[in-house]
Amino acid sequence: MKSFSPPNRLLMGPGPSDVHPRILSAMARQTIGHLDPAFIEMMDETKQMLQYAFMTENELTMPISAPGSAGMEACFVNLVEPGDKVIVCINGVFGSRMKENVTRIGGHAIIVNDEWGKPVDPQKVEQSLIDNPDAKIVAFVHAETSTGALSDAKLICELANNHGCITIVDAVTSLVGSELRVDDWGIDAIYSGSQKCLSAMPGLSPVSFSEKAIHKITHRSTPVTSWFLDLNLVMGYWGKGAKRAYHHTAPVNTLYGLHESLVMLTEEGLENSWARHQSNHLLLREGLSKLGIHYLVDEPSRLPQLNSVFIPEGTNEAEVRSTLLNDYNIEIGAGLGDLAGKIWRIGLMGHTSRKENIDLCLSALQKTL
Ligand SMILES: *Cc1c(COP(=O)(O)O)cnc(C)c1O
Repeated sequence: MKSFSPPNRLLMGPGPSDVHPRILSAMARQTIGHLDPAFIEMMDETKQMLQYAFMTENELTMPISAPGSAGMEACFVNLVEPGDKVIVCINGVFGSRMKENVTRIGGHAIIVNDEWGKPVDPQKVEQSLIDNPDAKIVAFVHAETSTGALSDAKLICELANNHGCITIVDAVTSLVGSELRVDDWGIDAIYSGSQKCLSAMPGLSPVSFSEKAIHKITHRSTPVTSWFLDLNLVMGYWGKGAKRAYHHTAPVNTLYGLHESLVMLTEEGLENSWARHQSNHLLLREGLSKLGIHYLVDEPSRLPQLNSVFIPEGTNEAEVRSTLLNDYNIEIGAGLGDLAGKIWRIGLMGHTSRKENIDLCLSALQKTL
């Protein structure tokens, strides 16, 4: 056996995205104790910068020490109690996982279905709220990475709030890549991932909870069935002030990386990051259309950071992907579920979202096709 040297890839799939060298070098710094005052200071800065990224004043804003799926689970396991009715919107893979979370907890999932590639239909959500006045939660995916569709989070949250429901929003792919305003839009619980538009390494899930959500968590009639993700306990570790209780050993170096990526976000500015993702998406779209490649998702709900495009007729899609990987060191994503074999998913997330990468990808695609 010898040390592992990864090949030098350009990550243009659905995540992880390219990690900036500044983040990689931040992670290589010396490990210190997770209760060291210097580390705790870094934790506080991380929370503060996450509030900026989410556009929230929520006190309970922090990274969960596990990937996006654990952030998802943290939201559901803390907010849903057995018997609770939860309206779950499904327009792709990740909506189905929300449903799975609800039913495993013993909640009652009411499904609002939309076609893959389409955004969640707010009218159907409203109808479901009218039909289910006892529903307590509305859950949906803001940016469906399996299809490349962006849903109208602001409107769906407004409808949910009007009907007295709290909201759980999957922002794994949207955070930092698309406009997202947790406080202005009335989002109660939200989770994201470090490896998509934040361009940090995989393995952390930033989350944020509103006062309303915390009230529900602290007034549960049953204990949270997950010990690790029980926010009543996690709050004692990530909470404010000097008195921090040991809960688990934080992934110290991974958190250095997230901290660095957030420092870079504050340098760029959140709005500028949204704008960069959008303008690079337009560049890619222009090049793809010259190759005769078309989008799955209709214009107004197209995600800039995840471009789902139809595979040109007569193309061996798996062969193209493996040529891109082996001959050009470029990774793009395949379709999932019903869209397998029909689409490619080209990611322009975070540090990957740069003009030179778009040029490389387009010329490699052109030669390969
Ligand atoms: C990637 C992703 C997840 C899961 O995140 P992991 O870090 O892979 O666990 C959840 N939801 C969406 C929309 C995603 O794109």
